[in-house]
Amino acid sequence: MRTAKINTIVPWGAELRLGSVEVAIQRGLPDVRWVGLSARAAQEHTIRVRAALISSGYTFPMGRVSIKVEPASMLRTGYDLPIALAILTAAEQLETFEYLAFGELSFSGELLLNSLATPLVGLATVHNMPWIGRVTQKITNLKQVVQAVQNKEWPVFKSESRPYKVPKIYKIDALLGNSAAKRVIALALAGRHHVLLSGPPGYGKSVLADAAAELIPGLSNGEENALSILESQRLQASERKTGQAPYRAPHHAVTIAGLLGGGNPFRPGELSLASYGALFLDELPLCSRGVTEALREPLETGELRWGGLQQNFRLPACPVLFAARNLCGCGKLGSDQPCTCTGHQRATYAGRITQPLLDRFPLHCDLDKRDEKEKHRLVGLEYAAAIKRVRARKDWPIWTKEARSLLDRAIKQYDLSYRAEAQLKAVSQTIASFDEHEKVEEVAVHEALQYRVRNS
Ligand SMILES: [Zn+2]
Repeated sequence: MRTAKINTIVPWGAELRLGSVEVAIQRGLPDVRWVGLSARAAQEHTIRVRAALISSGYTFPMGRVSIKVEPASMLRTGYDLPIALAILTAAEQLETFEYLAFGELSFSGELLLNSLATPLVGLATVHNMPWIGRVTQKITNLKQVVQAVQNKEWPVFKSESRPYKVPKIYKIDALLGNSAAKRVIALALAGRHHVLLSGPPGYGKSVLADAAAELIPGLSNGEENALSILESQRLQASERKTGQAPYRAPHHAVTIAGLLGGGNPFRPGELSLASYGALFLDELPLCSRGVTEALREPLETGELRWGGLQQNFRLPACPVLFAARNLCGCGKLGSDQPCTCTGHQRATYAGRITQPLLDRFPLHCDLDKRDEKEKHRLVGLEYAAAIKRVRARKDWPIWTKEARSLLDRAIKQYDLSYRAEAQLKAVSQTIASFDEHEKVEEVAVHEALQYRVRNS
């Protein structure tokens, strides 16, 4: 029996871990047996690796081939390359030594682009191991990989400069009206406060959220790494550019698993995939009760914990949430047309967002129909710069005595909970910072009070 083992990587929540692929070839009738992968994933890998080996001019071993992947996979793709290399090594077509391989192969032996290049190279450096994969233009197919391994010509990876550039013209500047809502949503992004937008359909809630997401500054390397690892565990490729903050807007019929993640192999949910960026949930009252309840904890802690026999990890769940709702079930309340809901229907609709969920939104904003007289002001550049500045800030402005006493009065008057008090403080600080005031003054507290969520 001949055996070979190749190191590989396994996404583990928002991190990468070292994994391995072991192959044993025995004499006997041709057969492939798998340990550690589901039957379907195993079959898919067998088909791809066999085709890639043959079309690259190698042979697939004739005897009994046993393949073991470790740890039990959370990922279906990416094992092709280490499997092909382990087979070639066990079949004595390649020398044995330690390196790290990762990549998916096409039937013709092409190595598919690797979205995990930066974290892969990071992990290889930590373990002091050479690595191979499709992260440079020089190595694009299995044959070239084999040659590089034979000659020990390991690729050199230069981290590409961030291709994401901040826009020259912001989408938000093309939107007329709703200047108050634009400010609220910019404050939300600056202070990472969740915001609830209310208004009749067609008043621009989703357009505004989409445009505002563009104001989020580019990601740090650590955030980009974590997101690219999370995105690699989804079936659809991400449209996000490297370094660009994510913006995701799932339909209100999203399931708990779709929002929080789950399944086997594990797939991260929208809350994690939108982390460091923004998540737009339209028609929040139409989301299932299970979904809205499941949102509460991660909205507060900014993370999700997954525990299980094989998988135990934490995931980021820290997008700024833009939630939207109509004012009533028929949607006409607040518009020019008369609402056709009964009082009972209206109460039921409002009640679909529970008070504990409402409490997670420090900011609330009603969208108005465009005021024709309102002067159009370009805010994109200014808001993007302010958001960046507030987020980069390490300390908060100090409070004036008057602002502090206004805060104390408000806490008493509205009988604010500890959470509401903390939110009110944080929003006041965000406002002062956003407006480049040296101190938190009464005006900031007044404005923050005005945004408190009301369940109408
Ligand atoms: Zn109505």
